[in-house]
Parts: sequence; structure tokens; C-alpha cells
Amino acid sequence: MEKRDYYEVLDVGRDASFGEIKKAYRRAAMKFHPDKNPGDHEAEEKFKEAAEAYEVLSDARKRRLYDQYGHAGLAGVGIRSFSSVEDIIESLFGSDSFFSDLLGFGSRRRRGPRAGASLRIELEITLEETATGAAKTVEISKHDTCETCEGSGAKPGTEPEVCNTCEGVGEVEQSQGFFRLRTTCPSCGGRGKTIKHRCKTCKGSGRIMVKKSLEINIPAGIEDGMRLRITGEGEPGEPGGPPGDLYVFVRVKPHEFFVRSRDDLVCELPITVPQAVMGDVVEVPTIDGTANLEIPSGIQSGQVLRLRARGLPNIDGYGRGSQLVKVVVEIPEKLTKRQEELYRELGVLEEKNLTKRKKKGLFRRVKEFFE
Ligand SMILES: [Zn+2]
Ligand SMILES: [Zn+2]
Repeated sequence: MEKRDYYEVLDVGRDASFGEIKKAYRRAAMKFHPDKNPGDHEAEEKFKEAAEAYEVLSDARKRRLYDQYGHAGLAGVGIRSFSSVEDIIESLFGSDSFFSDLLGFGSRRRRGPRAGASLRIELEITLEETATGAAKTVEISKHDTCETCEGSGAKPGTEPEVCNTCEGVGEVEQSQGFFRLRTTCPSCGGRGKTIKHRCKTCKGSGRIMVKKSLEINIPAGIEDGMRLRITGEGEPGEPGGPPGDLYVFVRVKPHEFFVRSRDDLVCELPITVPQAVMGDVVEVPTIDGTANLEIPSGIQSGQVLRLRARGLPNIDGYGRGSQLVKVVVEIPEKLTKRQEELYRELGVLEEKNLTKRKKKGLFRRVKEFFE
């Protein structure tokens, strides 16, 4: 049978827009869909014919070739030969939910082309980078479509052939007693196609390993152990399937001075006894510089002072945490002669100052403890 003109098949003019072609194809697909014409062989052939016409006319390059040279012009580019209705539905509607929803043959449809696998990497950053956010360049190894064969796996100039075992369906039926099971075709692994002449670059797999540099934007305020998802940067999917995602697990290096507590940064500050007693203003390091911290007189060891908005930015944009400074009063272990004199003198004074009431209370408690 001679091939009909594609424009005629879809009943559109030669200057039809892509939208008109799509519309016309939808009309034809609905009319000749096998679900609506059970057992009608002619309708099935028309369905396939429309699919083929649509495949050519919806592709700018193929359409140009067809316009110029007719069917002969397409000999070299290889249009998919649709051996089954399932094949058409998957190839043309699999990634087009508009069609499949409209025509309502989701149930008939085989599962679409599989999405690519996700990749995961670990990325170590500093606490300073957490505070400001950072752009980090990482190199990942992943598969990419082989350029030599454009992913077909077949040697340039050849085409993958329809699998003989499953006739392109990708599944075979097996009888086991009363049951008939459909399983993935063992010959083609479900792809529906086999490759006779393998592409040398990729050995027929259609993909090669590549190294790719990616710039990853680390949002300010990110916490150790958080995961960033970079959409579409995982392994490529099967032809027609979406690529997987890249998951970046962020590790924040321990800092020598700060420990994180939510959006706050906690640190310890050693101070002297006189500083604790009389108060002072000291310069303390912050995550992005220094700040003056006022130590009130009479502060106790272990007390925490707060420097507002000197912590980490909140990852959801709710302001910035505090720097919490835990004061540690250092008791001198070795004294110079002069220091010893002064401490002694101080000791005598302190003893006198301790009120009688306090003393009494203390002795009573000690007594009770030993009784
Ligand atoms: Zn290749
Ligand atoms: Zn097969």
C-alpha cells in the first residue's frame, strides 16, 4: 500500500501551525482509538497512520525534510515505526498528560519512560559560609546522552530495530497453567528495541560517563545535615523520561569558637575575677567580625550574655539569631607575691562583709547535712 500524504492523513493544510496539527491529531486519535473501535482493524491502521504523520509534522526538522522531499526525504532520519497501539500511546502520550487525560486511556498506557536515578553528594562548608550563604562549585560524575549516537546506542547511520521477541511492546506474555503473566521482555529489557550495530563510543548503552561542574547556591542559615535538592541534575532518564535529581547533603565543619543552637551561636568567654566583680567592656569575636560586649559588674560564672542579631540568619528569612556568650570566670591557679598579698587582704575584708545572718544560715545547713 502506498503511503498517504501526511497532511492528508491529518486533514490539515500544508501551512498548518503546530497547534493546528496537534488539534487535528487529537481529533484523529480520538476517532480511531482502539478503545472506541474494538476489533476494527482498519481503525487501528488509521490510528497508527495518524501517529506517524503527527510524529513527522510535529517535528520541525522532519517536517522540513518531508516538505522538500516527501516520504523519501525521511528515509535517513528514521521515524519510529509503530508496531503496536501501546507503542503509540506510550511514545506520543506518555509524556503528554494533556493528551492522556483528555483521551482517558491512562489505564491502557504502559508506565512511561522511567525517570533518571537521583544522585547524592556530600558538601562540606564552614560555619562562616552558613552565615553568609555561599556559591560552591562541585564536580559530579554522571551519565549523559552519548553524542555519537544521540542516545540511541546504535552505530551512526544505523537505527535500533524493533525487538523480535516482543514486537516492540517491551513485554511478553507467559502462560502458567491457567494464568497468563505479562513480564518485561527478556530480549530487549522492556525497551522494545534491539541494537544490531552498537555505537562504539557508548557500547550500545546510549550513555557515557561525564564529569560535570555545577555551581550550588548554599542558602544562608543552612544547618548541618540539611539536604538541598537540585532538580534535574541527577542521572538522565530513559529517552523521553525526565532526569533524576541531585541531592546535596550539607555538612558544616565544627567551628573552633562557636557551637550552633538553632539560629543562635554559643561561645564561652573567659574573664578574670576583677572583670567579673567590677564589670568591663570587651571585644569578642563574632561570626562576621567583632563586637563590643558589656560585662555587667557582679556577673556570676556561667551566666550567659546575649549579643542580639549576631547569630546566624534564619534559613526561612525570619531575621537573625543571637550570639550567646557564656561567661567563665577564671580563678587564677598561680599567684605572684603581689597578687597573693592583695587576695589575702581582700579575703579579710570579705570575711567581715559576710553578714552574720548569711553565715548562720550556711552553718545550719552544713550541720543539717551531716546529721
Ligand atoms: Zn553512543
Ligand atoms: Zn523485546
